[in-house]
Amino acid sequence: MKHDIRILSLVFVLLWGLAWSSAGRASAGNAPPEPADEPQSTAETEAEPARGTPDAEQTLRVLHGGAIEEMPMDDYLVGVLRAEMPASFELEALKAQAIAARTYTIHKMKDGPIANHPDADACDDINCCKAYKTADDAAADWGGMALYYEEKLARAVAETDGQVVLYGGEPILAVFFSSANGHTQSAGAVWQSDLPYLQSVSSPEDEELVPNYYSVETFSAEAFRALFLQARPDAELSGSPERWITDVERSGAGFVTTLSVGGVTVRGNELRTILGLRSPSFTVEADEDSLTFRVTGYGHGVGMSQYGANALALQGRTAAEILEHYFTGTRVDGYTTDTEMH
Ligand SMILES: [Zn+2]
Repeated sequence: MKHDIRILSLVFVLLWGLAWSSAGRASAGNAPPEPADEPQSTAETEAEPARGTPDAEQTLRVLHGGAIEEMPMDDYLVGVLRAEMPASFELEALKAQAIAARTYTIHKMKDGPIANHPDADACDDINCCKAYKTADDAAADWGGMALYYEEKLARAVAETDGQVVLYGGEPILAVFFSSANGHTQSAGAVWQSDLPYLQSVSSPEDEELVPNYYSVETFSAEAFRALFLQARPDAELSGSPERWITDVERSGAGFVTTLSVGGVTVRGNELRTILGLRSPSFTVEADEDSLTFRVTGYGHGVGMSQYGANALALQGRTAAEILEHYFTGTRVDGYTTDTEMH
């Protein structure tokens, strides 16, 4: 008899425990916290498991063609996609581009009014914000493919609704460029400051996938001198061009980080801008009357490579996998924006 009671109470304890734990799972709000054994688990992801603020609920003031137009985030992102990435690219690459552009825009808006245009959240100047193209302008370029491409870009935005690239729970400076030389470049090697998520990583595109992957630019001594002195009048550019460029420093990824031109130290990316080279990944040869630059890839080399994203998509990688590859230590997730942003 004693024995039966012991078994009954054991069964009762087991049943009660089972009921308690399933009730706990069903209503996460009342359940005691689970042990923190999931590496990605943060307070934010538990509160916002699926997605953040929908694009349709975020209104942007976009400065385009000199006028400010209000539009929801999704319409703006389709306009950015039309201008920033070939619509013929793989859907997962276009989705990665949509998430990167959304992240870039939210990151920029979080810093408050933008000095160049305090009354607009974004503009169409690529030196300030992102390029932007209307449906009519894109249709003129796309011809008979226009309807198909419009639907494809709208799908790339809709399927990533509210998704953002996060580092430490915050939207990142999600920069991108066209094509790399096999690796991307860390921010610190190109610009003034480094960021933990903008580091050098491999990038799979090559001359098979990228038009004009290799380019050559030759400057006469006079043309080079005129261009460079306009930007840096303190340079000493006399005598043979063979002695003008010295101390070429490269990153491990092969990009020129700094070099001396006529005794003036410049960053590789600065010389790229001055000369209109396609990338800071270059070699230079000089003779008595000219300088020749051999360049690989296109763009500054920091963040997501667009052709690399397309190559990874062709290998079957998802948009989130592509972004988490190019932005070190990040994850793609929903993000709740402050609706009182402006
Ligand atoms: Zn701008």
